[in-house]
Formats: sequence, structure tokens, C-alpha cells
Amino acid sequence: MPFVAPAIALLGSGIAVIAYRLLYDALHDELTGLPNRPLFVNYLQWAMNHARQSKNRLIRPEQSAIAVLFLGLDSFETINDSLGHRLADELLVAIAQRLEACLRPADQLARVGGDEFAILLRQVTDIDEVARLADRLQSQIKLPFNFGEQQVFTTASIGVVLDQPNTHSQPEDILRDAHTAMSQAKASGKARYQVFRSGMRDQVITRLQLETDLRRAIAHNDSSTNEQQEFQLYYQPIISLETGRIAGFEALIRWQHPQRGFVHPVEFIPVAEETDLIIPIGQWVLDEACSQVGQWQVQFPQDPPLLISVNLSGKQFTQLDLVEQIEQTLQTSGLDGQSLKLEITESMAMTNVEETIALLSRLKALNLQISIDDFGTGYSSLSYLHRFPADTLKVDRSFVSRMGDESEDAHIVQTIIMLGHNLKMNIVAEGVETAEQLAHLRSLNCEYGQGYFFARPQASDAIEQLLQSDPQW
Ligand code: C2E
Ligand code: MG
Ligand code: MG
Repeated sequence: MPFVAPAIALLGSGIAVIAYRLLYDALHDELTGLPNRPLFVNYLQWAMNHARQSKNRLIRPEQSAIAVLFLGLDSFETINDSLGHRLADELLVAIAQRLEACLRPADQLARVGGDEFAILLRQVTDIDEVARLADRLQSQIKLPFNFGEQQVFTTASIGVVLDQPNTHSQPEDILRDAHTAMSQAKASGKARYQVFRSGMRDQVITRLQLETDLRRAIAHNDSSTNEQQEFQLYYQPIISLETGRIAGFEALIRWQHPQRGFVHPVEFIPVAEETDLIIPIGQWVLDEACSQVGQWQVQFPQDPPLLISVNLSGKQFTQLDLVEQIEQTLQTSGLDGQSLKLEITESMAMTNVEETIALLSRLKALNLQISIDDFGTGYSSLSYLHRFPADTLKVDRSFVSRMGDESEDAHIVQTIIMLGHNLKMNIVAEGVETAEQLAHLRSLNCEYGQGYFFARPQASDAIEQLLQSDPQW
């Protein structure tokens, strides 16, 4: 039977191929083809062993460090919700390709979670080299991704761990610390990198505590016995620069934490966004602000009536029933849509332009107003701006505050005002703090101003007194 041996061999090699295939699949991500987390941990273990040995042998010990970069996308959930899974998957593949293109052949890239990638660098001699790579990765991800007609923008936060031999005993510990640093980068504003420091884990625990406390605060707000309420709305006047009188207010949330005291919105809004708690919080802000300004309109009638601006977070923006919810709020409060202005930030508006335009148009059908907040700080595509059905541009405080006579920022403010006017929008200058700034803004025909020069955000009873006194600037 001369054919039996080759047949067995063939069968054997067939089984080997199948076994290899199974093993390969188990260690790679199906979508991007990259190594998955278990395989990355394996590479990391190998690299750690190798680094220890080369250190022991004292062959160029300065080259024995390894670095891990943990990269998380900042807005993937929003993209997934608004663009759908198929396009989101295409985006992940495109991102993997862009990352790969930034690396050297010896560097190891892996997909370690839904929207998370890890990179292993070996023989790292200095942290600047890693920082430069982190910058390069970020600038690559920031560039638009084109899928047919659709243009998608995203950013990434990166956590970095530099591991000298023996600082970590297990590869999982390095990954955990890199993830912690990435969470910290997200918490401190996203689209940045953060090098891991010991003590950071405590910060992450503090953040978890903040989340628990937020849940409790929401429950207390709902149970609505006043002394338990931890959230409060403050109102900051927005002044018509033409008349010098109060035209309306921006509603700004305040959190009085029972143990920690006042917690700044910049600290808790991002946590609320990441945990979806912004949905009930945002709903409360909207209801409260509309009903309050409705009362003031009756108490202090003027023409046009007092206006209320409410900030919308990116998460609220992807909420499926947002339009219905706002319609309901308007009905319950009896407020005319024209008296409500929704503020969305420039970066929110530019994340997913086509969807934004569609949603803004549906909101505009409620007859309300739209404002683009913090303008000048994000990445705006001018070709899109004219398609946003927005009524107002809010010039970011950072430009107004540096608006000396001949400074570059004065020109930026002037340019934004001209741009807004050309797009048939009115302008609110944020952060007006001095009489000089006010005079300058008036000379540039800026319609509205908001800032400490006029009034700080205040609780409703203080605002009522202010309205009684009918101030004019
Ligand atoms: P924002 O929407 O740009 O609000 C303006 C911020 O500038 C407010 O800070 C306000 O107090 C501050 N500000 C106003 N005038 C001046 C000034 O002359 N000088 C200085 N230095 N600051 C001034 P605040 O209240 O701390 O809020 C910070 C951010 O938190 C807001 O920025 C907004 O993005 C967010 N936020 C506040 N309340 C809410 C809310 O109810 N919902 C959502 N989604 N976000 C909110
Ligand atoms: Mg705002
Ligand atoms: Mg603003």
C-alpha cells in the first residue's frame, strides 16, 4: 500500500494547517487582523524577559527599557451610535492602518479592546522618543477619514508606560497602568497623551467614587425634597451690546457635594458623559431652565423676551429621542421655542457633520435657536459651517481675554465676528472681563457679551434681584 504513508502525511499536514488556523484565529482580531490582547500580553512577557536578560548581561543597559502605549478613541461610542456598526468597523480598520504606518517593523501593534489599541516598543532609550511617537499617532488620527461621501473625525487619548526591567513583575500590570494613564488622559480633556505616574491609580479610584456620588445626586434630585437637592442651576446674564441690557441667560449647572463641597462642572460633566448620566442630568437642566425663564418672562416682560441658553453635551446629541424630549419640555413649560437656545460646542458639531446638520434641522423645526459654543477652539471646516442651521457663534473666552489692542487675538476675534456675520449669525463674546474689551467688542459690532464684567453666574434669587434693578452697561 504505497499511497498510505503519503496520505497520512497529507492528512497530518491538513490537521496541522487546521490547527495552525485555529491557533492563529484565537490570537488575532478578526476585524483588523492585528494580534489580540492575549497575544499582546505574550509579546510583552517575552519583551520583559528579554529586557531583564540584556540588563543582567550589561549589554547597553540603557537600551533595556520597553514602553507600552495604550490608545483609546475618544468618541467611538458616538460614532458607533450615529454612523452604525458597519462604518464604525471600517473606521477601526482604517485607524489600525494609520497606526501601523507610524511604526517601525520591530514595534508591535495590537487591538486589545473594542476601540482600544496597544503598542509595544522595545529598546527605548528616552521618553522623548515615545512622546514624539504619541504626538505623531494623535495627529494621524485627527485627520479626517473619508468613507465615500461621509467624512468622519475622531481623536485618541494615549496612556504611556515606560518600564525599566523589574519595575513591573507581570505584563498585565503594565497594560493596566497604561490603561489607567489613558483614562487619565481622557479625564483631563481627551486628545492627549499621559505618562503613567504612581498615584494615578488613586485618581482613578477617586473618579469611580465620583461616579457613585453622581448617581446618588441624581436620585436625590429626582426625589425633589429641596434640602437634599445637590444640583442647582446658576444663570449668567448675556447682555445685548446694542442696548446694554440683559437679553437672556446661560444656564450653568452647579453641584454641591455633601462632603466635598462645590464640584466644578469641568470635573463632573466629562464623567457624567462617559457614564451616560448626562442624559438624566441634561433633562433636568433643560426642564428647570425652561420653567425658570418662563416665570421670569412673565415677571419681567421685555421685547424681545428674555432668552435662555442651555448647554447640550455630545452624548445628549446622540440621544434618539432628543427632539421629542425637547418638544415635551417646551410644551410643559409653555416656553416659546424662540426663547430657547441650545449650545453645542464646535467640536461636537464637527464630529459627524452630516448627522449634525440633519439633527439641527429637526431641532430648528421646533422653532428654537442654535448656538455654536467655544468657537475657535475646535477644528472647524469652513465649508461645513455655512450648512449648519445655527443662529449664533460664541467666541471662546480664550480669544476675548487676550484681546489687547493690536494683538493677534484681537484680529482673531474680529475675523470670527466677520465670519459669523457673513454666515448670517449673531455673535456672543464669552468671558468679557474689562471695560476695554467691551468697548472693543462694540466697535466690532459684536451683538452680545457674557462675562464677569457684567455678572458672574448666580442662583435664581440673586438673578431676580438683578432683573429688578434693570441694570444697563
Ligand atoms: P461654557 O458653556 O463655555 O460656559 C461658560 C463658562 O465660562 C462658565 O463656566 C462660566 O462661568 C465661565 N465664564 C463666564 N464668564 C467668564 C469670565 O468673564 N471669566 C471667566 N474666567 N470665566 C467665565 P462654568 O459654569 O464653570 O462651566 C464650564 C463648562 O461646563 C461650560 O462651559 C459647559 O461646557 C459645561 N457646563 C456647565 N453647565 C452645563 C450643563 O448644564 N450641561 C452641560 N452639558 N454642560 C455644562
Ligand atoms: Mg455654553
Ligand atoms: Mg463656552
